Amino acid sequence: MRMGIDLGGTKIEAVVLDDTGSVRFRERVPTPQGDYAGTLAAIGGLVARAERAVGQTCTVGIGTPGAISPASGLMKNSNSTVLNGKPLKQDLEQLLGREIRMANDANCFALSEAVDGAAAGAEVVFGVIVGTGCGAGVVVRGHALTGPNAIAGEWGHNPLPWPTDEERPGPACYCGKHGCIETWLSGTGLANVFVAETGERLQAPGIVARAEAGDAVCEAALQRYEDRMARSLAHVINILDPDVIVLGGGMSNVRRLYDNVPKLWGRYVFSDRVATRLLAPLHGDSSGVRGAAWLWSM
Ligand SMILES: [Zn+2]
Repeated sequence: MRMGIDLGGTKIEAVVLDDTGSVRFRERVPTPQGDYAGTLAAIGGLVARAERAVGQTCTVGIGTPGAISPASGLMKNSNSTVLNGKPLKQDLEQLLGREIRMANDANCFALSEAVDGAAAGAEVVFGVIVGTGCGAGVVVRGHALTGPNAIAGEWGHNPLPWPTDEERPGPACYCGKHGCIETWLSGTGLANVFVAETGERLQAPGIVARAEAGDAVCEAALQRYEDRMARSLAHVINILDPDVIVLGGGMSNVRRLYDNVPKLWGRYVFSDRVATRLLAPLHGDSSGVRGAAWLWSM
């Protein structure tokens, strides 16, 4: 059986899938904050409990924020910054006593949705996680692209396209630049931009709920968010021309995005019409962890 582990900023989830893709085990634990050794121990505990529960040794695939640098073998680009510069794959292989496969969490998400999710059957899939951060993965004919720099799909750290004067230079990003797409489109970014634009501190779910209830300030904030997402995805469509874009992460639960964003992106895409589909994830929050398990089917 295949075990997938999704190492996230707030939680670590493990599932065991059988050959049909059915879930035989599932458990979530909180991510030890800022604690590398504790994170390794938490993963070790999950693997041990999962294998006890299913009664056999499993293949282990892990989805993480960031990527393994091909140059150094160390983690880089992770918004869980405690992982950066650490030999996470080697440490886990030593801890678990076996070879593991590891991929960026957004690549795992895109792979899961392309294998047996919302984008099943599509040739080119761009999978975006808009949650705490904003990452993306590219799957072409069932294979997640990595690239020589291990950054394929890292669109969250491109600058917001077609910025207005008010949007420049944009919020500071942990990567050292300003105005990264992640600082506008992640759930955290939406909340930060909202307080900067309105003076009121409100988290993303609160902004969405109040817009639904008819609050004009929140409605206007979400309309600006939708236009920023349309601009950001139009850049991707111009370069990659994917058949399907799948959203994941907390913001993927905002249903209005699937109608409103495609209505807006036509004015930015360099085409007379846009056939790209913007879809909600089929496996929801489980996509990352399922894609990690499927790393052993590629
Ligand atoms: Zn950035």
